[in-house]
Amino acid sequence: MIDYKHEPFTDFSKQENKDMVAEGIKIAQEYFGQDFPLVINGERIMTEDKSTVYNPAKKDEIIGYMSQATQKEADKAMEVALETFKSWRNYSFEFRADVLFKAAEIVRRRKAEFTALLIKEAGKPWNEADADVAEGIDFLNYYARLHLELKNGKKVESRPGEYNQFHYIPLGVGMVISPWNFAFAIMAGTTAAALVSGNTVLLKPSSSTPVVAYKFIEVLEEAGLPNGVVNFIPGSSREIGDYLVDHKDLSFVSFTGSRDVGVRIYERAAKVHEGQVNLKRVIAEMGGKDTIVVDSGVDLDKAADAIVASSFGFSGQKCSACSRVIALEDIHDELLEKVVEKTQKLTVGDPETGAYMGPVIDEASVKKISEYIEIGKKEGKLEVGGNIDNETGHFVYPTVFSGLKHDDRLMQEEIFGPVVGFAKAKDFDQAIEFANDTDYGLTGAVITTSREKMEQARRDFHVGNLYFNRGCTGAIVGYQPFGGFKMSGTDSKAGGPDYLLLHMQGKTTSEMF
Ligand code: NAD
Repeated sequence: MIDYKHEPFTDFSKQENKDMVAEGIKIAQEYFGQDFPLVINGERIMTEDKSTVYNPAKKDEIIGYMSQATQKEADKAMEVALETFKSWRNYSFEFRADVLFKAAEIVRRRKAEFTALLIKEAGKPWNEADADVAEGIDFLNYYARLHLELKNGKKVESRPGEYNQFHYIPLGVGMVISPWNFAFAIMAGTTAAALVSGNTVLLKPSSSTPVVAYKFIEVLEEAGLPNGVVNFIPGSSREIGDYLVDHKDLSFVSFTGSRDVGVRIYERAAKVHEGQVNLKRVIAEMGGKDTIVVDSGVDLDKAADAIVASSFGFSGQKCSACSRVIALEDIHDELLEKVVEKTQKLTVGDPETGAYMGPVIDEASVKKISEYIEIGKKEGKLEVGGNIDNETGHFVYPTVFSGLKHDDRLMQEEIFGPVVGFAKAKDFDQAIEFANDTDYGLTGAVITTSREKMEQARRDFHVGNLYFNRGCTGAIVGYQPFGGFKMSGTDSKAGGPDYLLLHMQGKTTSEMF
């Protein structure tokens, strides 16, 4: 592969970088409050029905009004995507890769604006917004390189008088359905992978964060992507979600989001409809219930730092967030004390002002997390947090529960908020057994000084991304391919060397001479 290095993170202790965020906010604010269109075949389409997109830290700050696709626009987008596929599939690998390389550079140039937009639209703290944009740039750069590697297919053998070749060709029209929590990186990464592989795309972003997705469409256009390759169709899932997933002409779905929706899509896509000629592929990256296991004899301050950062970074709204700690009995109490102490020092507030933790995404999220806090109070002991301020924005304070059993609801169900539960294990074997005892299998971490226990966990801790002596969030594109086992999804390993192949099919040709 052409040399690849991930995009560096910004150091916000430097005044010039602080100024950059302020500058980005000014740029983004210029278009706040506007109406935003769908984009089908490059054409801007304003619909009458629009959703209101607001800043979750300041409910009265409107980011924009987003047009909503109905089945009529969905049909039009599908028609365009099918037609454009006929030409896009034949573009050179270099052309397609160049679009991504250039898009990465344009985003880098507009980094301040994209960072600011994520602070405002998704309620991300500065460092989280910066990491989201950096990850998006990485996906573009990495998939472009990966695509070039596939240009000549893979080597196969030929007998005398025979010439065999094995190449990768695209699948057709894909639907990309993205979540709000990595509103830029996952949306841009899943779209980029689908399009660079030669497919055409129907992009349905999350209704909480569609403006940053619209801005990405502008980037792709500036980077030279032909009209109709990516069609931007935000809209209600009820109106166009099932409708497009069921569509006979859809070849694949690339979904990232919750388990319930992922399973629904997986089931629906399996049904073959009249006139359908392709079996639909589903890439589904779903939820997590991620555990940090802490062994005896470790540096408990470091372990506590890893737990706090993994549990409360972006208010725990990461599929990889730590929501369960399984600690060995002898160090449990001291570790808990340190985590509680560090949690009490975290600042919560409008991320624009530099608070460590911003809001959760919306009203429904506040309600769901509050319900789990009540469940936690019954199942265990509330150590810190548990309070909510839903006045000007959706703020939930970082919350720690202790005294839980590993199979309590708080330790089994994805909460997707700043809530972490502690349970004890009598020894390391039991800790791994408890860690594995969830429906999910996305990320996990083990903090230990023992090489043997590390190897035991490497073998037996059944998660897609396993980390040692660090937290369980923060996978880097091209360094730690990301995706989960069990009910966390199809283990697509975004940002990994096999990812693009999920969007392509292998074609063998054999010629006699
Ligand atoms: P969600 O499932 O509510 O929504 C995801 C997307 O699916 C949105 O764009 C939504 O509009 C769309 N959608 C909803 N119903 C649909 C339907 N019937 N047909 C088609 N599309 C439909 O998830 P969310 O709240 O946006 O994101 C949070 C969830 O995503 C969490 O569970 C988190 O763990 C998960 N997630 C997983 C990963 C991963 O890589 N495994 C990464 C980020 C987030």
